[in-house]
Amino acid sequence: MKPFTVACLLATGLLLPLGPARSDPTPPSATVPLPPPPPPARPEGLVPPAPQITPLPPERPPEIAGGSGKDAGNKDAGKRTEEPPPNATPDAAKGAPKDGPASLPDAPLPPERPPELSGEQALALKVSAPDDTACLRRLERLGARFEALPPLGNGQCSAPRPLNVTALADGVALEPAATLTCRAAEALARWTTEVQVAAQKELGDGLKSLALGGTYVCRGQNHDTDAKLSEHSFANAIDVMGYGFAKRPSLKVTAAAGGTPEAAFLASVRTSACGFFRTVLGPGSDAAHGNHLHLDLRDRNAGHRLCQ
Ligand SMILES: [Zn+2]
Repeated sequence: MKPFTVACLLATGLLLPLGPARSDPTPPSATVPLPPPPPPARPEGLVPPAPQITPLPPERPPEIAGGSGKDAGNKDAGKRTEEPPPNATPDAAKGAPKDGPASLPDAPLPPERPPELSGEQALALKVSAPDDTACLRRLERLGARFEALPPLGNGQCSAPRPLNVTALADGVALEPAATLTCRAAEALARWTTEVQVAAQKELGDGLKSLALGGTYVCRGQNHDTDAKLSEHSFANAIDVMGYGFAKRPSLKVTAAAGGTPEAAFLASVRTSACGFFRTVLGPGSDAAHGNHLHLDLRDRNAGHRLCQ
């Protein structure tokens, strides 16, 4: 290869991928590709298309033309009429301006966010409590006496629609009155009808009252400040201390010698409580429940109950 040819090939870059030119044993005719053939001539009838003019969008209807989006969204909402607004100029009333897209009115703005969904008000927004109208109706039919209380709230403890329940079916008094959610009051009312049946069956006497230890109390489980909040913190729990009867002396939850009618009564009502509450703890469960029956409606996975 002549030096001139090598220089030309180097200049056009054709020889560069092949490595050092002088040591390459391949003859140049085999390695340098031929230039591609020229494209065929354009047929005479084929003419490039003329540039097309993009059609303009249809005219904006007069009722949404002119003014800002805020005005259109608020002032004119709900009264879409064919007439232009009374204070509109003829041009604005006619719709899109005549001098092209450059001066089209601004796109309508989205409606303003309601004030209750912005800033501090949004942070303070609370999920409304579930409707318990049906529960209140059932509670009435169960013969309970109760009244609505204002919402309770103390940090994480809360009861949005608590009730003050004073008595249940057959005039069974709650001593003292209980602060409960409707669901808990309903469970208590239903269970108490079973307690009444057990009192007649095991003791031959009528149930007249339930002695309660506490209902709504903002505290951790077992009065442990580090523990998970007790259901008492949500007016969702009841501590029953004892039972009062029409004729016989009242009976404490703890007082029952084995084999007596009292023991049979206490065992019977404790067992039946598991059908109405999700948690039932009492004497023998643990040290914290030695003198009362704790009943609550804590939701557990898959509806599991704690019945001890
Ligand atoms: Zn309790």
